[in-house]
Amino acid sequence: MQAPPIQRLVTELGKLPGIGARTAQRLAFHLLRESDAEALALADAIREAKAQIGLCEVCFNLADGPRCRFCQDTRRDSAVICVVEEPQDVIPIERTHEFRGRYHVLGGALSPIDGVDPEDLKIAELYARVEGGEVREVVLATNPTTTGEATALHIAEGLRERAPDVAVTRLASGLPVGADLEYADEVTLGKALVGRRAL
Ligand SMILES: [Zn+2]
Repeated sequence: MQAPPIQRLVTELGKLPGIGARTAQRLAFHLLRESDAEALALADAIREAKAQIGLCEVCFNLADGPRCRFCQDTRRDSAVICVVEEPQDVIPIERTHEFRGRYHVLGGALSPIDGVDPEDLKIAELYARVEGGEVREVVLATNPTTTGEATALHIAEGLRERAPDVAVTRLASGLPVGADLEYADEVTLGKALVGRRAL
């Protein structure tokens, strides 16, 4: 049996996603082996991030002030809003350098079984933004999972009712770049066929 402070550290580290009991143990011993300054830098970083980071008042992305950097950036196109489930989904989209619009972070996906209903997500806030009149297109970039698809359909329907002139698009689910067709699963290939574009 380990001393209670060690056990507590292992328990807390083990609550992190993707960290099993063994890794938690290894990380705890690593931290204890480090100098006080090195180990406490991690504790300080957590404390600082939790104290300073909140949600953007416009798009609900993470922000270190009232508005995130995308909402503050006047060069971005306010007429196009990309809707994602979680703040971390913004990162891969930004990495493509293909999108110069704004974001809207829902805070999850609809899942009645898990008790996640429309009012638990920032859906009403999205409708309010679109009804403001400036928006031309909403790109639904929720995950290509059952809950992500259900969320996209729900929002598409809501937008059709409230703002029929706004274009609602969905990310084309394509084939992984560099992969041969023969290795694509039929769901992916089927979606790629349905979502085909003119060349
Ligand atoms: Zn924002």
